[in-house]
Amino acid sequence: MRNFEKSVDAYKEAVDLLPGGVNSPVRAFKSVNMNPIFMESGKGSKITDIDGNDYIDYVLSWGPLILGHADPRVVEKLKEVTEKGTSFGAPTIMENKLAELVIERVPSIEMVRMVNSGTEATMSALRLARGYTGRDKILKFEGNYHGHGDSLLIKAGSGVATLGLPDSPGVPSSVAQHTITVPYNDLESVRYAFEQFGDEIAAVIIEPVSGNMGVVPPKANFLQSLREITEQNDSLLIFDEVMTGFRVGYHSAQGHFGVTPDLTCLGKVIGGGLPVGAYGGKRKIMEKMAPTGNIYQAGTLSGNPLAMTAGYQTLLAMDQEAYEDLNKKVDRLIEGYQKAAQEFDVDLQVNRAGSMVGFFFNAEPVVDYETASNSNVDQFASYYRTMIEEGIFLPPSQFEGVFLSAAHTNEDIDRTIAAARVAFEKF
Ligand code: PMP
Repeated sequence: MRNFEKSVDAYKEAVDLLPGGVNSPVRAFKSVNMNPIFMESGKGSKITDIDGNDYIDYVLSWGPLILGHADPRVVEKLKEVTEKGTSFGAPTIMENKLAELVIERVPSIEMVRMVNSGTEATMSALRLARGYTGRDKILKFEGNYHGHGDSLLIKAGSGVATLGLPDSPGVPSSVAQHTITVPYNDLESVRYAFEQFGDEIAAVIIEPVSGNMGVVPPKANFLQSLREITEQNDSLLIFDEVMTGFRVGYHSAQGHFGVTPDLTCLGKVIGGGLPVGAYGGKRKIMEKMAPTGNIYQAGTLSGNPLAMTAGYQTLLAMDQEAYEDLNKKVDRLIEGYQKAAQEFDVDLQVNRAGSMVGFFFNAEPVVDYETASNSNVDQFASYYRTMIEEGIFLPPSQFEGVFLSAAHTNEDIDRTIAAARVAFEKF
């Protein structure tokens, strides 16, 4: 058995200092009923906790580290840049360089604004959509997470396409009432919502591949239909690609599916492990932001040299070939899991988009929040604990995706499959 003594002590200290002992709730490992594991270091596909236990890492800081931990191409440049000063609050050349790469690769983006987190990106994109259209309402999908901004921390009301209810105390109902929530992949509900509120809807915001109820891809033509409906109603289409951006592929999810939204939100991979978010889109819309336009949004540390450097180096390293290699490793992992599930008679659903994978302990295909919710969370918790013992670090929830990096080797993947077999055998 692995020893977690130091993590247990550190958590005891932390709960006195930080609410729940953590700075982001999912890190408390509540859904798998475990003591949080405190990490010390990472290199490539591996991480080490403060007790000295090693793991193959499939969390990758919740997605950003597509090159793996401490990639020398990122670290060396970061050292150089750090020596020259970490922030100026004035423009730097690195901002142009990262912006150029983003504009070149993401089809919808003609201009981009850098911010500090995915939450900031989606909040700002909504403000822009509202300011641009002069409308207040937005439409989002059940089970999609867009960060913790008031307008987006909303759950569905009862009934089809009713106005939203706050998902957290502190979100005013006067804000929630402007958010319409409908089931993911359910075009009829979207159409119904537009019949009811069409000329009041500023934007539809969607994760083009959902990654926050486990991984759930869009049904065929779902994104295309959203594009048509929003155009017909003079609403904007916003793709929240904070998770999928540069993760699903070289041109992000919009390139992969061939649907171009009006605005795109980015984060995670474009910061290469440093705090970054971004939103961008059509020039005529983006120019409504201050200082060219009058819609306000700003940031003391936005576009700071360290974050821009980490993001730039990461995107440079992820050329088309790197995505192809990465996809082959994902194929290998999925094949191994499917074979093991068959052999041990485990109900396993696999959803995948590029190097984002959702393994659900579920007998039925997972297409939306409701079907995802039917997954066997007890089985997941048992699987999770075995995987930790076997040295595999996964997101501690059935409803989070698994990420692979360019640093993962076939040997890592084969070890992971072997560990899953141990877990499945215990069910
Ligand atoms: N949008 C999506 C799709 C996300 O997955 C996340 C975070 N997991 C966010 C927005 C919020 O990003 P951040 O945590 O950087 O604020």
